[in-house]
Amino acid sequence: MSFNIELADRIKQLPPYLFVEIDKAKREAVAQGRDVINLGVGDPDQPTHQPIIEAMQKAVADQANHHYPFDAGVPKLRTEIARWFRGRFKVELDPLSEIYPLLGSKEGLAHFPLAVINPGDKVLLTDPAYPAYQAAVTFAGGKIQYLPLKAGNDFLPRIADIAESKNPKAIIVCYPNNPTSAVADRKFYEELVKVCTEKNIIIVSDLAYSEVYYDGIKPPSILEVPGAKDIAIEFHSFSKTYYMTGWRLGWACGNPQLIAALAKVKSNVDSGVFSAIQHAGIAALNMDPAEIEDMRTCYQERRDALINGLRSIGWKIDPPKAAFYVWAKVPAKFPDSMACVKTFLDEANIVMTPGVGFGKSGEGYVRMALTVPVARIHEAVGRMSKVLA
Ligand SMILES: *Cc1c(COP(=O)(O)O)cnc(C)c1O
Repeated sequence: MSFNIELADRIKQLPPYLFVEIDKAKREAVAQGRDVINLGVGDPDQPTHQPIIEAMQKAVADQANHHYPFDAGVPKLRTEIARWFRGRFKVELDPLSEIYPLLGSKEGLAHFPLAVINPGDKVLLTDPAYPAYQAAVTFAGGKIQYLPLKAGNDFLPRIADIAESKNPKAIIVCYPNNPTSAVADRKFYEELVKVCTEKNIIIVSDLAYSEVYYDGIKPPSILEVPGAKDIAIEFHSFSKTYYMTGWRLGWACGNPQLIAALAKVKSNVDSGVFSAIQHAGIAALNMDPAEIEDMRTCYQERRDALINGLRSIGWKIDPPKAAFYVWAKVPAKFPDSMACVKTFLDEANIVMTPGVGFGKSGEGYVRMALTVPVARIHEAVGRMSKVLA
């Protein structure tokens, strides 16, 4: 007799996690001994900064950090986040009620719908989008309405589409955007806050790329808009800014009621972030700003190398203003984004991400991550030119 394991519908509803599939294809190529250039996954290739590592080493040795952390975290981390936020966005946050540490911002984004979404509630998501949002809303039993992002509207959702939507409970936006690298300006956020206030829609803003910007133009926080704190929660991450993807540290901030509701979910799931990692986060927030500037310079050089290289082989793309992705139209010789990605992997050992993996409206595009050194970008462009010739 064999036991029949029947999985939950919410698991069956999920598409396979895109990056797992791509990673599998990449691993197979590497296992065959091929020289693979990975422009696929958005994980910075640089090591975490030394002052952060040293703060962690010290904190690990301190017995005070060996116990369950308080759910709400090390108080100093919250006051340091508040200080950083004031300096960066000119927004005051109450460290006790308006900031909450997370095991990475993805964890917070994944748990937040459980705090506000009832089964059947409608949630507005952009298409394309970071795949974790769809999973999070599905787990909470929410119904998704997609807002297509088009080049003609700078990959922003149309405010009119939000205004016309019937009874949405929440909307999730992410600017600077993954995968399109689009940015939202203050005016977009003002219009979004206005329409969502009128329609009683909770705004979730994912600001994981706030510090990855080019040409000195800093992306705003939605919390800069007057009234935003009444309806919005924003998710921040240490991962991309400080090369800390593996450490799992982020925070939520904004409306205290929404923060408290998320905290309630989390207190039943995890018992907080390892305190030593929180001390590493404090060190990160106090790092020499020149090091963060170096991070931007590094990506900007890579961006320029890739954009100029692609243009030189006839692939016309506008340079992104933020984040570390190039969102490129699929060349005419390929029928769709999957065929394009497959050909570049098979014939040139280059990993890219098919746009369709981020949603239906992502079809016709591929995403290339700027997470390899300039020399490898030159090599990649050389190989691409042979495929496109
Ligand atoms: C990388 C990324 C995150 C992730 O962050 P963690 O803090 O590492 O969990 C969140 N949102 C988007 C859009 C990302 O690309």
